[in-house]
This record gives sequence, C-alpha cells and structure tokens, in this order.
Amino acid sequence: MMSEVASSFRILMVSPEVVPFAKTGGLADVVGSLPAALRELGCDVAVAMPLYRGVAAENLAGERIIEDLPVSLGSQVIPAEIWQGTLGGGIPVFFIRRDEFFDRTYLYGTPRGDYFDNAQRFAYFCQAVMALCPALSYRLHVVHCHDWQSGLVPAYLRLMHGGDPFWSETASMFTIHNIAYQGQFAAELFPVTGLPGNFFAVGGMEFWGGINYMKAGIVCADVITTVSPRYSEEIRIPPAGRGLEGVLQTHGHKLHGIINGADYGEWNPETDPLIAARYSAKNLAGKKRCKRDLLTTVGLPAGLMDRPLLGMVSRLADQKGLDLVAALAERLVAEDLGLVILGTGEEKYHLLFSELARRHAENVAVRLGFDNELAHKIEAGADIFLMPSQFEPCGLNQIYSLRYGTVPIVHATGGLYDTVKPFDPNRGEGVGFSFTRYEPEALWEALEAAIGMFHRPSLWQQIMRNGMAMDFSWENSARLYLALYEKAVAARRRPPAR
Ligand code: ADP
Repeated sequence: MMSEVASSFRILMVSPEVVPFAKTGGLADVVGSLPAALRELGCDVAVAMPLYRGVAAENLAGERIIEDLPVSLGSQVIPAEIWQGTLGGGIPVFFIRRDEFFDRTYLYGTPRGDYFDNAQRFAYFCQAVMALCPALSYRLHVVHCHDWQSGLVPAYLRLMHGGDPFWSETASMFTIHNIAYQGQFAAELFPVTGLPGNFFAVGGMEFWGGINYMKAGIVCADVITTVSPRYSEEIRIPPAGRGLEGVLQTHGHKLHGIINGADYGEWNPETDPLIAARYSAKNLAGKKRCKRDLLTTVGLPAGLMDRPLLGMVSRLADQKGLDLVAALAERLVAEDLGLVILGTGEEKYHLLFSELARRHAENVAVRLGFDNELAHKIEAGADIFLMPSQFEPCGLNQIYSLRYGTVPIVHATGGLYDTVKPFDPNRGEGVGFSFTRYEPEALWEALEAAIGMFHRPSLWQQIMRNGMAMDFSWENSARLYLALYEKAVAARRRPPAR
C-alpha cells in the first residue's frame, strides 16, 4: 500500500555511471533501470551524473541549461555547465560538465591504474550536485547516492547544509554496489572535500590515516542499502567488509539488502534483437540457433554443437574468480568442451586468456573489449554461464543467464548465493550449480556435476526451465526501495532525539 507522500516522492539519483550514457559495471544498469520502475510507482525521479567524453561524443547530453554554476572545490570555486538530457521515457538527467575533470577516455582510470585526481573529480561532482538542486529550485525528498563517487553528498547534506531550509525535507540514501571500491585517498587531500575539520576523525571519514569517500556516505546517510540481502550480511564481517565492517556494524541499523532487478526490456530471449533467434521456455529451438551463431561469430568449430559450451562475460578483475578459471584452464580444455570469454580489465588477464585462446584455438575463444552485442550472444548461445566470483555484491550476468536458459555455475557468495539455488535432481528444483570453498578443486567439482547433467537432456532442460521461470523484474525491487525511502523521510521528519 502506498501512502500519499510516497506517490509524490521526488528523488534524485546521484551516480557516476548510468546506462546508456556511461558504464563500467552493474551499477550503471541499476541506475539506468530503477528510475523508470520508481516512476511506475508514482515517484518523480531525476538522475545526476558527470558529462564524460563518451556522452558528448554521442550527443547524448541534451541541452545546456546552466552555463556557469559556481561549484566549490576545496578553497576554489570552479564553474560547471549543467546539461539536461533524458533517460528512457522522459526521466530528466542532469549532466555536470567540467571538461578538465570528465572529458577523458575512461571513467575512473586507464587499465594501468586510477586517475591521479579522482579525489578532486568526485568531490567536485558531489559539490556540483549540491549546487545544482537549489539553482534549479529542485527540492528533494530523497537524494539517493550510489557508490563512493557519490559518497560525499550525504556528508555535505548533513554537515554543511543541515540548517539550510532548502534541504530541510531531504533524506539521503547511500547504496553500496561494491565495497571493494571505496575511494580511499591520502589525508593531505581532505581539504579538497571542503568538509569541516572535525569530520577527519574515526567516527567520520578518516580511514587508516587517510580519507575514505564511501565511509563518508555510510556514516552520514539516513539509510544505507546494498545490492543483495546476503551481501548486506557478509560486509559486516571481515574479509568481505574490506576494513569497513566495524563502521557497518556501528551503522548496521541503517543497512538493508535489496537484490537488483534485471532489465527484461533489454535482456529477454523472447524479444532480444541482438541474438540470432528468439526463444522461450516453451520453445527452446531458437537457443540452438543462437549457439550455432555464437560459435560462428567467435570462430569456434561447429563440432562443439553437442558439447557443453561455457560462457563468461566479465570485467577481468580479481574479484571475478578468474584465478580459479586460470588454474583449471588446461583441465577444462582437455574436457572436450568450448569456452567463450568476453571481458576487459586487468592486463595480466588479457595476457593469460589471449595466450590460452592462442594455444587452444579449437576450444577457446577470447574477446578482449566491451561488446554489448556479443554479451547478448553469449548469454543466449552458451549452455553454461561461469561466474565463480570470489565475492559478488549482486551480479547481473547470472540473472540474465537464468532468463536465457544458460545454466549458471557460481561461487555461493553475495547475490550469487541469493539468486542461484543449486539444482536438486531428486526434487527437480533449483536453477544452477554452486560451490562454497573458493578453491579450484571446488569449482572443478561443480563443473563436473554440471557437465554430467548436461548429458542428461531431460534433467538439463528442467534446470533451464526452472531458471527461465524466475522473475527478477525491477518492479519488486523498486517497491522495496520505495519502502525504505518512506522510512528515510519519516526518520528525517522526526525531531532529533537530543
Ligand atoms: P560488475 O558490476 O561487477 O561488473 P555485474 O554482473 O553486476 O558485474 O554486471 C556486469 C554488467 O556489465 C552486465 O550487464 C554485463 O553484461 C556487462 N559487461 C561486463 N563486461 C562486459 C564486456 N566486456 N562486454 C559487454 N558487457 C559487459
């Protein structure tokens, strides 16, 4: 049941990446989809993000609405341009333009490492958001901030605009999409934030002698969420908490887990225009055509049609369990199966996987780069989706895989644990395969179990259909966010205890 207030909530999403404008990972998918789902529930939603080079190059920024917005950065005032475009069905997107910070090839750094001035870039972004709202007379019920790049907004709101009537009705929510990226910088950079000196403290954003943007968000937000219930438990203890477990225990009463939805408008084998043939749980014939097409596309032999074809679409980062895959690579190729890997990221994995593909061109195809069309073809054309992440806050690819009838093998962690229930042949229930110990041997056992089952077609089709029947549409998750917005606003309206 929705209250009167909820149906007129005004929410600003603050995010460093948003589909279709800029994306390095699942965060962009979330902020690309959640606004529309919230709007369906009666909310008034807008989005704020930096105007990166790619956005300008593709003419996606809309029109300039403010030429010269004064934005503080430390002791300086550096003007920003504000551009306004739209997302999906007319959700306003405010782009913050300051070319010296955002007109770059990458979002956060090159494959060699982070940009040297990320502390400045994202303090500037957060300050620009704080300047933008009053300039547009855009009063909010909730400012919903995503990941460390937006982490200073709750701090500005609470510590610098606490008494400001313009912001008096605004609550803040901070969503952790991945606690491995915290925005940690040297203490010398604290003045860049412009925050009061006493916030450089253990109870503030100080972290092991430096500063931490994510910690600022956690400490100051009215409500904190993360992207699966399991991950919201895991990050309260080491090692998953990455040093922030103590802070999350202190602020644990504010922390909730909401699983990400999937955008079935884009990821649905019944309608997907990027795959060779459409198919559904009722009629799986098209999936075979997709497999054939995938093999051709990546140059693998047609003989693999009746062998298991494993797919991976992933950032090539340690998080994603690639060390386990690397450890098993030789054994895998000896199994007479196919492996297609699409990814980009750390150089060591680029080298490792291109070498593997070179040596085993009959079984292994590797594409290094970001390729949305190929990602769709892999989701549709593979038999098995491999996602052995060491940790996984939510994970989207396994959710897409389920819908495409591509059986996931996962490490039982975070969102992978929450979404992939292991198949139980006796009861005919479950949607995939999983392993608990993060070791090559444990992944190997799960792989062998999956491959064994692949050769029992009726059981295999049962697993595929079980997965295809699962529903991770955004509507459910949006309702959970809405309930928390109500909670945050109510907390804000209550007079402080002191
Ligand atoms: P993470 O956010 O940790 O990268 P997720 O599974 O939550 O992982 O989301 C990854 C998203 O990025 C998915 O939509 C996936 O399809 C996409 N993706 C990742 N790497 C690539 C790539 N190399 N090419 C195309 N899409 C990719």
